[in-house]
Amino acid sequence: MKPSTAIVVGGGIAGCSTAYALAQRGIQVTLFERNETIASEASGNPQAMLYPRLSGDDDASRFALESYLYSLAFFKWLNLNPDDIYICGMLQLGFNPRELARIQKVAAQNHAENILKYVNSDEASNLAGIDLPHDALYFPDAAWVNPQQLCKRLTTHENISVNTLTNVISILKNKDLFEIYSDGKLIEKADIVIIANANEAQNIGINLYLKTQAVRGQVSVLDATSESNQIKTIICSDGYLSPAANNQHCLGATFSTDNMSNEIDEEDHQANLFKLKSFSLPLYENLKNNIKGGRVSFRCTSFDYFPLVGKLLDNAILKAKPPRPNATPENLPYVNGLYINVAHGSRGFTSAPYCAELLAQIICNEPISMNVEFAALMNPSRFVLRKLGLKRLAKMI
Ligand SMILES: Cc1cc2nc3c(=O)[nH]c(=O)nc-3n(C[C@H](O)[C@H](O)[C@H](O)COP(=O)(O)OP(=O)(O)OC[C@H]3O[C@@H](n4cnc5c(N)ncnc54)[C@H](O)[C@@H]3O)c2cc1C
Repeated sequence: MKPSTAIVVGGGIAGCSTAYALAQRGIQVTLFERNETIASEASGNPQAMLYPRLSGDDDASRFALESYLYSLAFFKWLNLNPDDIYICGMLQLGFNPRELARIQKVAAQNHAENILKYVNSDEASNLAGIDLPHDALYFPDAAWVNPQQLCKRLTTHENISVNTLTNVISILKNKDLFEIYSDGKLIEKADIVIIANANEAQNIGINLYLKTQAVRGQVSVLDATSESNQIKTIICSDGYLSPAANNQHCLGATFSTDNMSNEIDEEDHQANLFKLKSFSLPLYENLKNNIKGGRVSFRCTSFDYFPLVGKLLDNAILKAKPPRPNATPENLPYVNGLYINVAHGSRGFTSAPYCAELLAQIICNEPISMNVEFAALMNPSRFVLRKLGLKRLAKMI
């Protein structure tokens, strides 16, 4: 049976797109966000690039491509303000022998040209609007979005109520309803709860064995020059540069699991600038003194890099009474009505909307129109099930 009411914890792209997918099905959603505004942590960068990073015909590449195509179509359908989504295409450069081999391997899979195509350095330069000394993969529909405006659009819905400045401390199940507590007070009840608060999912009073890691990232904002204003596409090596919007570029991003500081780090700006050298030396020279600011936030990444999406198990019961190896998913001790959508790593703006739709289909007992293999790969209990020797169950939903 479809639930009537839902609580979503976390107002990033995962929480906002999940709230939207449920609200579209007539469910009354209350979303809680601890900050003053939604989209203010990992989902709060000035721009988010929409493109897949592919390496071949492996699960990760197939998921990256399918979720990218889904989310692009979804964002077009949302009819965002033209200032908030810019479909400019993206060039992924074969900037060293390893990357060249990778893009050639992807190109050899004969994807349709409206999805991606291999271009030589002359063609890449024409598309980019500046000289690039590398062959590239060109994704004509790749885009950037304005994360805050996207999240606002998703949650501006008659069935969604957004409560900011509310830090959810604990979730309890009392008979058939979930109770949400903040500051020692009961603040809301609902039929179901969706945990979408990224790295904080482990800290809301539920015994979850998620195996996630915070990965710090810094983006740099650069003033454009007359030369860099010619850039027409997103350009990527091991980092990305967006075409100028309001005379500024977004250049990203760093990765660190050691440094957990929220402060902007000058060395990280230099590391971002260094990535420009692999695009083209003249571009680096042109932009190297133009850093005007930046932003630090933390990705939430799982140990196998797939998101954690689906219904949650009661780990205490699971550990006390482990199921037999021949058990089926129906034999597992699910907490009826408790779900999760986290660990979107570096690609949340393409993976989270896809996962939100998948989760809504699971919650509402609809036929799954998304790829069921991906749903199994994202089983949020896979790490605890593997630890208990139940590898077969870890690959099922
Ligand atoms: C530097 C950098 C650059 C990136 N660039 C790109 C890009 O170009 N394209 C792309 O697709 N992805 C990019 N990513 C990844 C993307 O930003 C993330 O995958 C995505 O934002 C994750 O969304 P989320 O909703 O899971 O997490 P978040 O955006 O972190 O949202 C979680 C929310 O939960 C809230 N919360 C936490 N605990 C509680 C609580 N107890 N109660 C209430 N609220 C709570 C937080 O305040 C937060 O708002 C980048 C990431 C970084 C760090």
